[in-house]
Amino acid sequence: MSHSLSPRLHNAAFAALGLDYVYVPLPVRADEVGAAVRGLAALGFSGANVTIPHKGAVVPFLDEVDDDARLAAAVNTITVVGRRLHGYNTDVEGVRGALVAIAGDTLAGEPALIFGAGGAARAAALALSRLRCRLTVVNRTPAAAEHLAALITAGVPGADCRWRPLPDLTEQDVRRQRVVVNATALGMAGQGKVPALLADNVSAGQVVFDAVYASGPTEFLAAAQARGATVVDGLTMLLGQAAAAFSLWTGMPAPLEVMRDAVRR
Ligand code: NAP
Repeated sequence: MSHSLSPRLHNAAFAALGLDYVYVPLPVRADEVGAAVRGLAALGFSGANVTIPHKGAVVPFLDEVDDDARLAAAVNTITVVGRRLHGYNTDVEGVRGALVAIAGDTLAGEPALIFGAGGAARAAALALSRLRCRLTVVNRTPAAAEHLAALITAGVPGADCRWRPLPDLTEQDVRRQRVVVNATALGMAGQGKVPALLADNVSAGQVVFDAVYASGPTEFLAAAQARGATVVDGLTMLLGQAAAAFSLWTGMPAPLEVMRDAVRR
């Protein structure tokens, strides 16, 4: 979905600001990732987004990779500066910006729970650890949670990131969090539901974040909102990562409302 929304929202933003850029979706075969990336400068591109499954594969072909992208082992945005290619992971800023907009600087030292250990969870873990939250990662496959916790602990100075096997998580564990994140595919059409343990134990005073984007609130967010929690949806994260990419390419602040309207249309 991000794949199909990005041209729409970036082209609307370029048009609104009268910028002479165009965003085109270009499918690339796995065995041609290197050739495609190295060709960006020769073809006069200002930058690119990279989507699944190439986010990790592009890294060896870039001249520089920023800290978040290196730690996440995933680049979603490339800028071309002269002939040099820089890689970024703006999903981290998508999560961080959404949380700061809602909670300001009140999250430092607060407990946060991340459900999931894939790409979205890495972005959430990096954002939350940079906001100095005390993190717990739970995941269906415990080894992936353990790996993510180790990566954050080793990569982010001062980070406090642990992991727990999902079956060990209690109602009390969920209730005592300040932030609860669903970073799994659960809640997407046909993917099953976020466990009731999470949805049924959040309440007012907590921030509930769902990386899954849908045309309306996900079932998890609707349940959390009904229980009084402050909610952040996946579309806000998507717009945040797009806005950060837009600024990297153009050097200008993104027209967020234009982008939001383009997605809603
Ligand atoms: P991913 O790297 O494939 O990771 C998927 C995660 O979901 C893993 O933790 C996986 O657990 C878990 N999972 C999948 N099916 C499950 C199930 N039946 N029960 C329990 N856990 C399950 O995918 P991703 O890139 O992180 O994407 C995750 C979600 O975030 C997707 O809905 C994606 O669209 C969304 N997303 C949103 C944005 C945004 O801008 N809003 C950006 C990126 C991703 P295992 O490790 O056990 O397989």
